[in-house]
Amino acid sequence: MPETEQYWINIFGKVAQTGEPLRFENYSNVLKKHFDVFAFSPQIGQFAVLFTDITKRKDYLYQLKQQKEFSQTILDRLPIAVSLSSLSKQTFKYTNDKFYEIYGWRQDELDTIDDLLHKVYPDPKYRNRIKIEMANDINSGIIENMSWSNVEITSKSGEKKIVSLVAIPLIEQDTIIYVSIDNTQIHHTEELARESEAVFSSIFYDNFSMMLLIDPETKQIVDANDAALDFYGWEREKFLTMSVYDLNINKDNAINDVVNYVVQNKHQILETKHRLKDGQIKDVYIYTCIIKKRKKRFIHNIIYDNTEKKRAEIAMNVQEQKLRDQNKVLLNNNEKIKKINKELDKARKEAEESNKLKTAFLANMSHEIRTPMNAIVGFADILLLELDEVPEDINSYISHIKDNSEHLLSIIDDILDLSKMEAGKINLTPALFDLNSLFDKLKESVEALLLINTNKKIDFIVEKGVADDSFMIFADSFRIEQILFNLITNAVKYTDSGYINMSYKLINSTDIVFIVADTGSGIDAKHKNAIFDRFTRVDDEDIYKTREGIGLGLSITKNLVAAMKGTIDVESEVGKGTKFIITIPFNQN
Ligand code: ADP
Repeated sequence: MPETEQYWINIFGKVAQTGEPLRFENYSNVLKKHFDVFAFSPQIGQFAVLFTDITKRKDYLYQLKQQKEFSQTILDRLPIAVSLSSLSKQTFKYTNDKFYEIYGWRQDELDTIDDLLHKVYPDPKYRNRIKIEMANDINSGIIENMSWSNVEITSKSGEKKIVSLVAIPLIEQDTIIYVSIDNTQIHHTEELARESEAVFSSIFYDNFSMMLLIDPETKQIVDANDAALDFYGWEREKFLTMSVYDLNINKDNAINDVVNYVVQNKHQILETKHRLKDGQIKDVYIYTCIIKKRKKRFIHNIIYDNTEKKRAEIAMNVQEQKLRDQNKVLLNNNEKIKKINKELDKARKEAEESNKLKTAFLANMSHEIRTPMNAIVGFADILLLELDEVPEDINSYISHIKDNSEHLLSIIDDILDLSKMEAGKINLTPALFDLNSLFDKLKESVEALLLINTNKKIDFIVEKGVADDSFMIFADSFRIEQILFNLITNAVKYTDSGYINMSYKLINSTDIVFIVADTGSGIDAKHKNAIFDRFTRVDDEDIYKTREGIGLGLSITKNLVAAMKGTIDVESEVGKGTKFIITIPFNQN
């Protein structure tokens, strides 16, 4: 052969020398062909060669290899798991990369299909169920039956996954192909969607709040819960054929505007009026929001019946207005009262002023009267002393002048005293004094008084509450004497026979009680209060005429007791006698 490459010559030379035959395949670069070469030595030193052109076979095998690599690459890159197993032997012929990704095992780690089933279905019960189900479906020979969805597998890492499987048996090729898709993510998403729909349903249907779903395009009522059906009064079937135009009392255009606004703003609180089946119009608050349900948008409405609140609001406004009006009247009255108060204040000041004037007048008057009266008394005394031998009757006239003048002076003193007291000008001068001595002094005066009233048969009894000579009290002795003397002169005046009792006793460490009791004419119960009024006398006609007095004594006494922060009380029975009880606080030493 021309241009035979050197290595051919070397090989054949060796066959000729050794006699050993040789068979090999080689490619001739010169001829551009593949040869099956058989060289043998018919005799030592010779060789023979059989060349068979195998170029076509080689090309075919090459193409086959290329094809295999191509399909392998495709299978490996497929996004679905693919496995090929022998039907008869149940062993794995091939598993792709996705199979490894989903299940976690490579082909060389798996013995048989049963081995794989043990691995991916560790729970024997579940595994048996799946095995029986799959075997039945495959044996049925019906292609449509040979797919299973939502099968839970456990991957090599222990992770639970949800797959969908398809089996393709190729009986003639003794092969079964399994194709599986990892549905875990989709399954979870579906589960979540199902759960959230269930949650929504329970929130919607079981809610006490009234809820509606509205189609924003048609304004149709798509759904309503029982609370809403109760409120509006419609049957569900009928209600779901109605639209918001049937509920809302506003014009269609206005309703459309509101719906569009809600769609744009996603959520909104509306205040409007809805009509019920029975024609009632209700004030409602609507909390709206947009929700998506099965890829469609709806307006979700929560409705609150605001009618009562609205009514209450109106009632409250009316009430408020009333109160405002009343307030105005009150303010007006207040102004009037203020004005009246001012006038009263003015009147009071004027009265006080006139009281002062009255007191000043009385003081002046008494001074003016006292001076000439003293002169009269003085001159009457002189006359009585100087005129020894005057006729009896003249003497008696002068005595009259003197007595009456003294009486008039005492009346003037009383009036002056009372007017001072009423003007609040009474001055007390408390001091320590011997009460028992005061009682002795009073006893003497009263006895002198009784001597003058010769017609009366009265015993005068004095009782001292404390016998101790050193007993002293802290009070105004002059005023206490005045009080007791007033009461005793009254007792003498209104008693003809029997006794007069003057006593004191301590009732505790701070209060002393004086009692002046007599067995005289007594006072009718109905006059018990009146006797303390000034210029008030309550005697009947006879007594009135026979006993002197102008009704000032008890009034002065009461004022004096009050000034000493004490109390005066009277107990009396007509015809039996009278008892005056005076309690005065004192500071005992
Ligand atoms: P009068 O100057 O008239 O005695 P009083 O103010 O001292 O005025 O007394 C008022 C009235 O109380 C007397 O008019 C009399 O009716 C009645 N009265 C006062 N003390 C006695 C008494 N001891 N017994 C009966 N009546 C009395």
